[in-house]
Amino acid sequence: MAADNEKNIGKTETEETSSNFIQNIIDEDLKEGVYKNRVHTRFPPEPNGYLHIGHAKSICLNFSLAEKNKGLCNLRFDDTNPVKEDIEYVESIKEDVKWLGFQWDGLYFASDYFQKMYECAVKLIKKGNAYVCDLSAEEIKAFRGTLNGPGENSPFRNRSIEENLELFEKMKNGEFKDGEKVLRLKIDMASPNLNMRDPVVYRISHNTHHNTGDEWCVYPMYDYAHPLEDAFENITHSICTLEFEDHRPLYDWVLKELEFITPPKQIEFARLNLTHTVMSKRYLKALVEDGAVEGWDDPRMPTIAGLRRRGCTPEAIRDFCDRIGVAKSNSTVDMALLEHCIREDLKPKVETKMVVVDPLKVVITNYPEEQVEWFEVENNKEDESMGKRKVPFSKEIYIDRGDFMENPPKKFFRLFLGNEVRLKGAYFIKCQEVIKDSEGMVTELRCTYDPETRSGSGFNARKVKGTLHWVDAAHAQKITINAYSHLMVQNEDEENVLNPESLKIYKGYAEPSIKDSKHNQRYQFFRHGYFFADPVLTKGDAYVFNRIVELKSSYK
Ligand code: ATP
Ligand code: MG
Repeated sequence: MAADNEKNIGKTETEETSSNFIQNIIDEDLKEGVYKNRVHTRFPPEPNGYLHIGHAKSICLNFSLAEKNKGLCNLRFDDTNPVKEDIEYVESIKEDVKWLGFQWDGLYFASDYFQKMYECAVKLIKKGNAYVCDLSAEEIKAFRGTLNGPGENSPFRNRSIEENLELFEKMKNGEFKDGEKVLRLKIDMASPNLNMRDPVVYRISHNTHHNTGDEWCVYPMYDYAHPLEDAFENITHSICTLEFEDHRPLYDWVLKELEFITPPKQIEFARLNLTHTVMSKRYLKALVEDGAVEGWDDPRMPTIAGLRRRGCTPEAIRDFCDRIGVAKSNSTVDMALLEHCIREDLKPKVETKMVVVDPLKVVITNYPEEQVEWFEVENNKEDESMGKRKVPFSKEIYIDRGDFMENPPKKFFRLFLGNEVRLKGAYFIKCQEVIKDSEGMVTELRCTYDPETRSGSGFNARKVKGTLHWVDAAHAQKITINAYSHLMVQNEDEENVLNPESLKIYKGYAEPSIKDSKHNQRYQFFRHGYFFADPVLTKGDAYVFNRIVELKSSYK
């Protein structure tokens, strides 16, 4: 069932998205020679948090379009807000883009353009296209009008060019307090598009900027800064998310009034939303600050850093971004698709290990004391070239508690009193006796084994329905397992809330070959899922494994 569903998720998505409307626009521009055969995109994060998988979609899109069209792609930090931005985020963003496998052509900071942007604003003032306004933020809002009615002109709209130049310079020179004055474009207070009603383009902020320090106290607003950043870098196709569609007339207005000859073209696409998580830096930052998660790289976070720490590969993320494609309308993608991509990526790559997450001891009463046998087990049953390893077996082993039931329902094919199962790679065992403690908790199973049924002996006399994984007790390596589930779940009102069970920690046992684990190693734990040796917590004798994803899809 699960497997069928999985195939469907993959297939439908790829078919639906085989044509990328942005590529069509680029094709058209190339055909008409609009940008003289150039394609130049950019990924423009604001360094106010860590990147999430929604950003990965934008990264894949921008870098892949550049690559496919033999063009260039810049990484540009859109750092025009001194209060929220930080160098820590700049560094993390660079690391994440590289980890995803992309290399930028130009690396820029919007803040490097502050002087040029200022000069452009002066030019607009000189053209009579911008004015200094003394209204407060609340007044500007009140004057703005609504979708149903026009706004009202600011009483400062008709200041002379000379006065505006003088005031703007004084703003720059720090002669006013925060909020005392702003620079606005003079467009149309009756425009049906609210963004065109004399938008604010400069504000005063006496704050230290991570890049320019205290050099500036006026900062450009996004809608003014962004088109200029694109134009300064000779970007051809400026790809952004749908909520900026209504800002496009302003984007074009700024570039037209500043007389850029072949201005970049803004193209909008739908942002990625995923079930069972949340895709907003602001919200994710609050989770980090409130201690709801352990940091930006908590493996439950949808951040690139979190996914990396969890054990997800860049290949899986890129495959996911390919499959979801690029659309013009917003939708929410099922987390199961990302999980599917992770499994598909890891299945052929990783070795299998036997690990018991919630151990229950099994004593094989008729197995000789002191005897140890070493069974050969394939590392990846789909790829012989990945070889085999040896797994020890002796009188006492552990199985997973969930593989035994005292009162099994029909179709329970694992261990129960009187039932026989196969131990993966070893013998058949039959449960003869159940030992409990004073509280009725099962503490041990006594089983017998059938020496005739040794794996690889060609024995074929009877069939058993269940095959269990196990770990030899004498050789077991203690490990910690962080079993992660979704960060968010829906409550009765179908609201997304934090999942109180997003992390369960188990103390389990692994076969001894786990000790050969190298750093950053991923495995399939037989019958459990895909796991990653936590790069921070796995050290010395401590083996800590993050569950990347379960084996089967929970997709329904
Ligand atoms: P957030 O709301 O999470 O802070 P943002 O859009 O403010 O996201 P930016 O740093 O401004 O974050 O984004 C950089 C680029 O990534 C932008 O071009 C933006 O459109 C894109 N992007 C951000 N979130 C998504 C998403 N969920 N899906 C696709 N692209 C996204
Ligand atoms: Mg933003």
